[in-house]
Amino acid sequence: MDYDLIVVGSGAGALLAAIAAHDGGLRPLVLEKTNLVGGTSALSGGGIWIPVNDDMAKAGIQDSTDTAFGYVKRCARGLASDRRILAYVETARTLARTLAQIGVPYRCMPHYSDYYPGTEGALPGGRTMDPVDFNAGRLGLQGLELLRPTNPGQLILGRMQINAFEARSMLARERKSKWVLMWIMARYFLDYPWRSKTRRDRRLTGGQALVGGLLAAARARKIPIWTETTLQSLQQKDGRVCGVTVLRDGQIQPISAAKGVLLAAGGFERNQEMRERHLPQPTNQAWTATPPGANTGDAIRAGADMGAQLHLMEHTWGAPTLAVPKEEKFRAMFVERSLPGCMVVNGRGERFLNESGPYPEFQQAMFANHAKTGSAIPAWIVFDARFRANYPIGPMMPASAVPDSRLRKSWLGQVYWKGETLQELAAHIGVDPQGLAASAARMTQFAQTGKDLDFDRGGNSFDRYYGDIHVHPNPNLAPINQGPFYAMQLWPGDIGTKGGLLTDEDARVLDTQGQAIEGLYCVGNNAASVMGPSYPGAGSTLGPAMTFALRAVAHLRGQSMALQRTDLLDSAV
Ligand code: FAD
Repeated sequence: MDYDLIVVGSGAGALLAAIAAHDGGLRPLVLEKTNLVGGTSALSGGGIWIPVNDDMAKAGIQDSTDTAFGYVKRCARGLASDRRILAYVETARTLARTLAQIGVPYRCMPHYSDYYPGTEGALPGGRTMDPVDFNAGRLGLQGLELLRPTNPGQLILGRMQINAFEARSMLARERKSKWVLMWIMARYFLDYPWRSKTRRDRRLTGGQALVGGLLAAARARKIPIWTETTLQSLQQKDGRVCGVTVLRDGQIQPISAAKGVLLAAGGFERNQEMRERHLPQPTNQAWTATPPGANTGDAIRAGADMGAQLHLMEHTWGAPTLAVPKEEKFRAMFVERSLPGCMVVNGRGERFLNESGPYPEFQQAMFANHAKTGSAIPAWIVFDARFRANYPIGPMMPASAVPDSRLRKSWLGQVYWKGETLQELAAHIGVDPQGLAASAARMTQFAQTGKDLDFDRGGNSFDRYYGDIHVHPNPNLAPINQGPFYAMQLWPGDIGTKGGLLTDEDARVLDTQGQAIEGLYCVGNNAASVMGPSYPGAGSTLGPAMTFALRAVAHLRGQSMALQRTDLLDSAV
């Protein structure tokens, strides 16, 4: 059992690192704490943010290293080094090409806007890429059983997978969306040969396509993946990290690595003690949308024990989340809040944010308003009968498809609250009735003029991406005036933490003096994010996780990728 590289964790960055190491002639070993492979990566949307990708040129979208570098640097607000940002911007397209070569192709989403359209260098589309659907037959049933399943919220009728293009088409109520839905259902139900073996869909999309594809590639290469094996600590000899100790089969075991260890064991969002020490308060590990018990910061602590520098520990990949009874984790509410006819209020019934804005800013606005009013945690998303009829929200399908009478009885008062009038709803949820009525009346006014004078909802390309194209003059605004009225509770959750071990442009872990710790690499949420406190566009976590995995392996093999545009370093933006 001789290994060159030990990879801790089995998310996208981890698996890609193991595959690249194998293809580079090294012997990798993957260690995974749980009994399933894929971590949060497997239940994610699978999107990657790839500036200057090959598809953009084909779609007639112009991008350049200069523009993308400037944009990320502005977003990172001085909290990520120029060398790392440049390394990311220059290597990201190599990632997309590498994924295609190993059987996990992506395509760009020409209309999916960057998250901060008002920041110089942002583009209205093209940098976010979505994985092409992956046939689980290539993974095999055994492999599929090893793959962490996706969230119920990402499945149609709890079974059928849906990709980002289809989801957008349905939410925007494009004319073709009914046909798309029928095709998805027909394809699933007519595939009897596959369905007779498993309930899980043969067609993998999003994070399932990404991690399913990577897992298939790893299995084809016979890369060993040890599940139920938990990193305990790192081993060092002569100043070099040379292995790990793990808990496996109830025993502590050492495993050595000839060339190094790559930590990719996620963040610390499932560790309540670390959350209380580092994150804004109040905080609760239950609010995260990531798998329970998985990412508890083990490898952040193991790195810190080796003298690694910690960075960005107070930041998360924030997102509003909601609880659904009997589901093992909270669901993130990424898009429904952008559709017209809803608003988010605090306990005073006051709006305090742009409901359609990027999800990290949404979470931060909740904390800021709570600090001021003491009433924004939880916040309430309030909508009327017209919204309820037309759009899905949380676990509820549109009432036109599943009316209230067919919703689970236990959801009333747990998932959603309902009142014939706004006053009645306000009484149910303990929100100030006058404030709520005034906010709804003001939103109704804004819907008529198309201008949200308070928070400019619908004022940019990102907001409008998840609007309703049939609603005018602003696809994100509609009156909130048709009873009955509904509300759901939102928490300042996250889809992972973003602080961790500080690394350089080759994903080498740096100590508190800024020196690389020999033999130790770190990617994904285990490392401090290259994006600083921001979220430049969809795919800003998986893109860097895998890009830096490639750079780490190249460095480990003595074939570091040199930075090209060093003239951009330290430039003013
Ligand atoms: P993970 O993928 O969580 O992998 C870490 C693994 O390490 C886990 O399997 C864990 O069990 C294991 N582990 C932990 N401790 C140990 C230990 N001591 N020993 C061994 N193994 C250990 N991001 C995007 O960029 N694009 C998207 O489209 C996107 N969509 C998302 C949708 C949802 C619903 C959610 C919840 C998140 C989404 N994200 C998305 C965020 C993204 O999924 C995560 O940021 C990313 O997967 C983190 O990758 P990782 O490799 O750091 O961690």
